[in-house]
Amino acid sequence: MATFKSIRIDKTETGTAASYVDFDDADLMDGDVTVRVTHSTVNYKDGLAITGKSPVVRRFPMIPGIDFSGVVESSAHAGFKPGDAVVLTGWGVGETHLGGYAQRARVRGDWLAPLPAGLSAAQAMSIGTAGLTAALCVLALERHGLKPADGPAVVTGAAGGVGSVAVALLAQAGWSVIASTGRPEEADYLRGLGAAEIIERKELSEKSRPLGKERWAAGVDSVGSHTLANLLAQTKYAGAVAACGLAQGMDLPATVAPFILRGVSLLGVDSVMCPMARRIEAWARLARDLDGARLAAMTTTIPFDRVIDTARDILDGKVRGRVVVEVG
Ligand code: NDP
Repeated sequence: MATFKSIRIDKTETGTAASYVDFDDADLMDGDVTVRVTHSTVNYKDGLAITGKSPVVRRFPMIPGIDFSGVVESSAHAGFKPGDAVVLTGWGVGETHLGGYAQRARVRGDWLAPLPAGLSAAQAMSIGTAGLTAALCVLALERHGLKPADGPAVVTGAAGGVGSVAVALLAQAGWSVIASTGRPEEADYLRGLGAAEIIERKELSEKSRPLGKERWAAGVDSVGSHTLANLLAQTKYAGAVAACGLAQGMDLPATVAPFILRGVSLLGVDSVMCPMARRIEAWARLARDLDGARLAAMTTTIPFDRVIDTARDILDGKVRGRVVVEVG
């Protein structure tokens, strides 16, 4: 029986444990497309899954990895044929369905997107869920009618995965980007991605007043908690903040003041169950606008056997930008 390299999470008496194992082909879950995985990545959620810090995984044993790119091996889905280059992010893969940290994945074809023209399989994973989410945030702000002439855009968790891609995309679209980071040593990195101004994470992470000075027209927040409350309180009249993350916390200790006195909007962004049409729009935007040199500057490539260590690092805030995992 054929086996392939994978990471497997098992339930233990004390919680969960992740290890590198050979996985049996026969144990793959149902799906109409089988993919030879060439690349994956390490997102914050992968960190939570592998360390067991949050109950992200809801089926055991589980192959984690919420994203992968690769080549179709076999398909009973009308949209895909052997040899097609594909990318998958989200849909519960790596949580309820066996995921991307494996040389082979069997999934529903409806979850797959064609590899966007102009991107390699490695670049697609350099973007991954984090980058796709950043693009969905930018598109949400634009759909709200916001444009660079309205004022600066702030990005929190700027040196992280979502943050790095958001900084680069917003700068490319002409925004003056204010990057908030707890890593002042990454100021040059963030300027290289296009940030015009760097601010200290601490400025935004303490308890917020109901309203503050109006500083930005738009925001991309991957941090939540007090940081999101401060972002809202300092957003200009009729501005908006796209919220997608909880690196500081899941709470939102804010007041309604920004909404009812300044007409500020809070735009929720989810990438996991996001409809395919919106994903395709976001991938096309990324392929068109995300500068290849900036994408390379934010990317670290690791071999498969570094995934578990890197999962720990990302939760400790030690990973800069994005990580590509060489699986194939
Ligand atoms: P990263 O770890 O790469 O980035 C998170 C960044 O947040 C860190 O790099 C750090 O940036 C900052 N940060 C970390 N801890 C704290 C803290 N305690 N207080 C304030 N800032 C902090 O993760 P990702 O970019 O992959 O994901 C970011 C968040 O977005 C996560 O919460 C993730 O779950 C969420 N997410 C949600 C998605 C969705 O569909 N809604 C999809 C993808 C991600 P710096 O060092 O610059 O301060």
